[in-house]
Amino acid sequence: MIYSINATHDPALESWVESANAPECEFPIQNLPFGIFQRVGSPEAPRGGVAIGSQVLDVGAVARDELMEGRAWGPALACSSSELNTLMSMGPDAWSPLRARLSHLLSTRASAEDRQKLKNHLAPMSEIEMLLPARIGDYSDFYASLHHATNVGKMLRPDQPLLPNYKFVPIGYHGRSSSVVLSGTPIRRPRGQSRPDPDRPPKFGPTQSLDFELEVGFFVGSGNRMGEPIGIDKAEEHLFGICLLNDWSARDLQAWEYQPLGPFLAKSFGTTISPWIVTLEALEPFRAPAFARPAEDPAPLPYLNSPQQMAHGAFDVSLEVLLSSRAMREANVAPVELCRSNLRDLYWTPGQLLAHHASNGCNLRPGDLLGSGTVSGPATESRGSLLERTWRGTQPITLPTGESRRFLEDGDEVIFRGYCGRSGFARIGLGECRGIVESAPAP
Ligand code: MN
Repeated sequence: MIYSINATHDPALESWVESANAPECEFPIQNLPFGIFQRVGSPEAPRGGVAIGSQVLDVGAVARDELMEGRAWGPALACSSSELNTLMSMGPDAWSPLRARLSHLLSTRASAEDRQKLKNHLAPMSEIEMLLPARIGDYSDFYASLHHATNVGKMLRPDQPLLPNYKFVPIGYHGRSSSVVLSGTPIRRPRGQSRPDPDRPPKFGPTQSLDFELEVGFFVGSGNRMGEPIGIDKAEEHLFGICLLNDWSARDLQAWEYQPLGPFLAKSFGTTISPWIVTLEALEPFRAPAFARPAEDPAPLPYLNSPQQMAHGAFDVSLEVLLSSRAMREANVAPVELCRSNLRDLYWTPGQLLAHHASNGCNLRPGDLLGSGTVSGPATESRGSLLERTWRGTQPITLPTGESRRFLEDGDEVIFRGYCGRSGFARIGLGECRGIVESAPAP
């Protein structure tokens, strides 16, 4: 294992930043996720920070104020940048000492003098705005949920839901990084080509089946040289952390364009991520065994197989999707829950996905983003897309206002939440990933 359970995970640890000790707080001192922030209305440049309670700590400023020491210096200074790519490139030997030092400085064990200095570098979340955490060079999206792949397959190919390659090769496609946006950015309904009636010619217009996909994003830390694969037991050393990811999808466009080369314009119009990256070290208490493969399933090929990954390679992260229509917001009705699933249910572990991505010698770079694929579980309520939830629109969902949904309507807001909880450890949250659907551009 790269990380161990250490003092930073101690559930008894408390912060002198009072808001971090509230029982429902997503960002207690055991979390310390990284993001890029800027003071609203300030000419100051965007820079890296960690979330602590309802505050953000300017990590680079802490370093410049001589509060860092030893191996925490370099990575702390790297947070002065407007993107976290440099910090990400440094690897666990830099991330771990930085986390340990931040944990100490923000804990009630910190000296009064250090606390006083640190207070100058804290900003309330209400006074800042978040930006994309990294310059995302490349974005690839996987298809790692067996339940999702089986559900989608049943709709498209009832006689052969799961293609013969699924249990051998982690399926993925290259996404589009230019349209990866931060939580809160509106998503415009895309126009595109579809062929709803096979007896009539295809048409071009606003998608009639706009969907979300509940996913988790994995940020690549240090990369690999082109031509040099990453071994399965080294893969996690190259993972910086995770966020929530909505892979917005236009199902009618997708159904018409996907053969033979896979998704293209049905996905590239927008991908939303949450602003805070929860590090792999913060996730250490929430490890889980890889998917329990039934006896008749093939073992992963050797380059994807390791006792370590099979025993501990998955992560227990609870995920939720909520929907709020315009009419619901106008009537002050709370968002309604559409789905509840868990990252632990993926057929492939994050480490396997990363090792597979680099297995042909493809070079991954710091700040690259990998999507898990829609995280669906075995139950109906755990289906992570409307496509599955309404079974391609045949089983519409009724909202509290009496409205009905097969797919997303203009004005709908989709909200993802994520958290990790395990007895004996502090609960940590991933924050939120939100986006409102706007009407299609005029023709
Ligand atoms: Mn996807």
